[in-house]
Amino acid sequence: MTEDTKLLRVAIDGPSGAGKSTVAKLIAKEFGIDYVDTGAMYRAMGLKIINCGIACEEGPELDELLENTDVDFRDWKVYLDGEDVSDLIRTEEVSKMASDCSAFASVRSKLDSIQKAIGRSRSVVMDGRDICTIVMPHAEYKLYITASADERARRRYLELKGKGQNPDYEQVLEDINQRDYNDTHREVNPLVVADDAIVIDTTEMDIDQVVSYAKTIIDGGELEYVEGFSVREEL
Ligand code: C5P
Repeated sequence: MTEDTKLLRVAIDGPSGAGKSTVAKLIAKEFGIDYVDTGAMYRAMGLKIINCGIACEEGPELDELLENTDVDFRDWKVYLDGEDVSDLIRTEEVSKMASDCSAFASVRSKLDSIQKAIGRSRSVVMDGRDICTIVMPHAEYKLYITASADERARRRYLELKGKGQNPDYEQVLEDINQRDYNDTHREVNPLVVADDAIVIDTTEMDIDQVVSYAKTIIDGGELEYVEGFSVREEL
């Protein structure tokens, strides 16, 4: 038996707006284990690039910045150079910079190694785009949570309205499609469904159904059929 077998690691991948973080947090609470939002770490990196005013391109300037940057995720908060930036990273400007800089091999390599170290050290639910494939390929459970682009845009639109904003649905949908394109077409570690991941299509599901399904998978129970849910046959 390896040391790894004592750990409970749940790796969750999927496109923007599929509800990964919500599900991941609820699973972590349910099983009393840690939670790591790797998207928040890319956002923190994006925030650093903005704050330092350097060009978002690969090269010596970015390499130097990476060497002098500390990103950590602990106690459900993201830290940039020791400062809790969990609230500062939720802006459109940071979203865009996170998406742009996440395509760079140097940025991915830095954050991957931090995330891999966390995955080796403790039980954790980690969500992102390359968790099942690159960061925790040996996780005990791997989920791919998705939903149609229209449904993800609809949820995002309602979320923004709920925050008192006046979003344009078509714009929200365009942003989702653009992020999907960036995530699936970047050269380094693009978003793909891992061969051994369980795919949960949440288009027709509410959050309780998704969490209940995920919990059943982790508990090793029998899965009941739910409309819109798909489990790979080989699993
Ligand atoms: O999930 P979230 O929208 O917060 O992620 C922010 C950005 O970081 C996204 O553009 C996403 O593509 C990128 N990301 C990534 N790899 C991860 C997590 C997020 O490239 N593991």
